[in-house]
Amino acid sequence: MVDGHPIELVTLTNAAGVEITAITYGAIITSWKVPDRAGQMADIVLGFDDPAAYVKANAPYLGAVVGRYGNRIGNAQFALDGRTYKLAANNGVNHLHGGTRGFDKVLWNAETQKTVDGVAVAFTRTSADGEEGYPGTLKVRVTYTLTNKNELIVSYEATTDKPTVVNLTQHTYFNLAGQGTGDILGHELRLNADRYTPVDKTLIPTGELAPVEGTPFDFRKPTRIGARINSEHPQIQFGLGYDHNWVLARSSEDLSLAADVYEPTSGRTLQVSTTEPGVQFYAGNFLDGSVTGKSGHVYKHRYGFCLETQHFPDSPNKPQFPSTTLRPGETYRSRTVFRTGVK
Ligand code: BGC
Repeated sequence: MVDGHPIELVTLTNAAGVEITAITYGAIITSWKVPDRAGQMADIVLGFDDPAAYVKANAPYLGAVVGRYGNRIGNAQFALDGRTYKLAANNGVNHLHGGTRGFDKVLWNAETQKTVDGVAVAFTRTSADGEEGYPGTLKVRVTYTLTNKNELIVSYEATTDKPTVVNLTQHTYFNLAGQGTGDILGHELRLNADRYTPVDKTLIPTGELAPVEGTPFDFRKPTRIGARINSEHPQIQFGLGYDHNWVLARSSEDLSLAADVYEPTSGRTLQVSTTEPGVQFYAGNFLDGSVTGKSGHVYKHRYGFCLETQHFPDSPNKPQFPSTTLRPGETYRSRTVFRTGVK
């Protein structure tokens, strides 16, 4: 129970036997079962068997929708139209993933639908004016659609009654070999990005867009996640590994490729496309074995990775970054497609 209401669970299945479950708490994706190259099914996302565990465990955003602002806002404040807004400082002096009780820690309404694309569940909620310090009543809708092409389409929509900032994302931790089976260092990753946003030691972007060329951040060719993750590069030291925003190479605001992942032992693949300008590639550096998840699996250091499509961290304080401002009369729209397969 959350705020006196039960947590509901929704299951989406397709003709290929892919099965995704999600719950109304945090709009969390709790399981995602897909075949390997031999047809063997495994659950490729970290999480808990019991929905109630997400409330108790205070786990680091496992599977959740993150908002009102995904990733960090420096010094937990921003100015908009000449007014300064103070937000919850829940990550040192900074604001992280929407604050102390962000979109990942509240109940959403769920409505299942059949669409032309496949089976879907729409999660909706209203974030009150002033919630976690943000201005404006924000009406939010996040739809998960599972298609017969083994895609999960995540579409976000939001409107406001006062100027505000919005940056929604999905915080699923993947392990394509199967959740809890080991670390993700053997996965091969390609990121469609020539640049990334370097950070200070509190993980706030410096404002610069730096070339990946010649650095451990160059994933333009498929590279094992573990190949350079312990490098001496100062940016790797700040992130304790990869925990950075890559600037996606794209020619329009339409859906374009963000990332390709391949796990050699199972043959499973994951492709991520998005309308967003950036992706946070987080290698699970803060997982430390303190969370016991599904089937009793202990989630140790780097047992999962996240590909969080987004606007860049701290954009409200970085006028040179693409804007995250939403004004009354406008509709925030964002779309990310996760496509699983084998090779
Ligand atoms: C952030 C990390 C954070 C993690 C889980 C990621 O999106 O970039 O710094 O530790 O989420 O909380």
